[in-house]
Amino acid sequence: MKEYCGLFGISGHEKAAWLTYLGLYSLQHRGQESAGIAVARNGNIALMKEMGLVSDVFKTGDLEELGGGMSLGHVRYSTTGSSRLVNAQPFMVRYSRGTIAIAHNGNLVNARELRSRLEGFGAIFQTTMDSEVIVHLIAKPTYQDLEHSLIRSLEQVEGSYALILLTPDTLVGARDPRGFRPLSLGSYEGAYVLASETCALDLIGAEFVRDVEPGEIVFLNGGEMRSVKPFPAQRPAVCIFEYIYFARPDSRLFGHNVHQVRKELGRQLAREHYVDADMVIAVPDSGNSAAMGYAEESGILYEMGLVRNHYIGRTFIDPSPEHRDLMVRIKINPIREVLQGKRVVLVDDSIVRATTSRKRVDTLRAAGAREIHMRISSPPITHSCYYGIDTPSREELIAAWKTPVEIAKSIGADSLGYLSVEGLLKAAPPPAENYCTACFTGRYITETCEETCKACFEV
Ligand code: AMP
Repeated sequence: MKEYCGLFGISGHEKAAWLTYLGLYSLQHRGQESAGIAVARNGNIALMKEMGLVSDVFKTGDLEELGGGMSLGHVRYSTTGSSRLVNAQPFMVRYSRGTIAIAHNGNLVNARELRSRLEGFGAIFQTTMDSEVIVHLIAKPTYQDLEHSLIRSLEQVEGSYALILLTPDTLVGARDPRGFRPLSLGSYEGAYVLASETCALDLIGAEFVRDVEPGEIVFLNGGEMRSVKPFPAQRPAVCIFEYIYFARPDSRLFGHNVHQVRKELGRQLAREHYVDADMVIAVPDSGNSAAMGYAEESGILYEMGLVRNHYIGRTFIDPSPEHRDLMVRIKINPIREVLQGKRVVLVDDSIVRATTSRKRVDTLRAAGAREIHMRISSPPITHSCYYGIDTPSREELIAAWKTPVEIAKSIGADSLGYLSVEGLLKAAPPPAENYCTACFTGRYITETCEETCKACFEV
């Protein structure tokens, strides 16, 4: 099971549920399958979660009912097999020390091993999520207090996590010692806020304080914060794909604005793969920033050749196979008058299976583009991610098996240029050695082998 998610938490505000709802709204790009909010009140935790978008799941009355104080929210993406309500987060349990709700972004690569061990001692799991393993570890009666149980639990897990936990009196944020996934700390009207991305802080008008550091755990009680760093320091492994594709361009991630980083990747791409052309266009929206950078560096005109429809919604009925291109056209439509007879550089952030790239090239060709030169602001994705980005199995990754020349042929482009790994690391904010680039290099950070990791996701 692979997933990526958005987290939001706030401690010490009377409109906690409402603010969490707003925060989740701006994190919707991190997950569209389910949304949930847990609120601590009267010594207990109230939880509401459903499949669907934030706007579908919560209505005004719900938020008033959930109330304020301390709150935790989650939006989840998952592949179809595991997208069931039972797997929606926050995940809440009652155990010997009370009630706890947890929201997790990332992937634990030793989840299966830990789960089997716990089941061997009689643990009964309610979900197929790796996050539940953490809850079981916390619930073990070895320590009386949350802090020690949490530290002991996190010592045992391997992989990536940004976590927010909620008990009736404390909100806790934690980032794994390598810092794979982001988690930012903000402040709003005397309350502390935690969010996967700073765009959520911006929306509620919160001030960015700093990132939760790799290996740090912060305990928030109302307006008070206490921080501990109980784990030995490890080589950082910040996910570079957050910069390339995943985060919103208006977010400040790992200390830098995402749009500006993407533009720099586009500039580097132009240095590496210049081509004489009439215009640079983006695959909207994923290629926008990099295309601007490419145009700036190459001096080629930046144009709008494709227009995205933002209002499709999730309920659009997939057309029958004979009307398949209807779906392509409903999402993105070309501007024929701009493209007719032109040599076009088409910029996107990445190629995974190449199915959408093929469609984009076909669309441009049908709209009269004379030459189509595809440029990608990341290196070829040759390996699956086991740390929380949804990339399919290796067999489905086109760059694992084909060269750029073969891929260009297969998508129907006149040429194809990928950013090099060296170029990526040169253009991304330093230090270069602090990134995880496993999806491009196969150099996984954790020791767990590929086969063991795969097994984790079949739980
Ligand atoms: P494909 O057609 O399979 O090569 O998909 C490439 C497109 O998917 C690009 O436009 C990317 O922006 C987008 N993309 C890249 N990684 C992911 C991901 N993990 N989940 C969903 N979309 C992605």
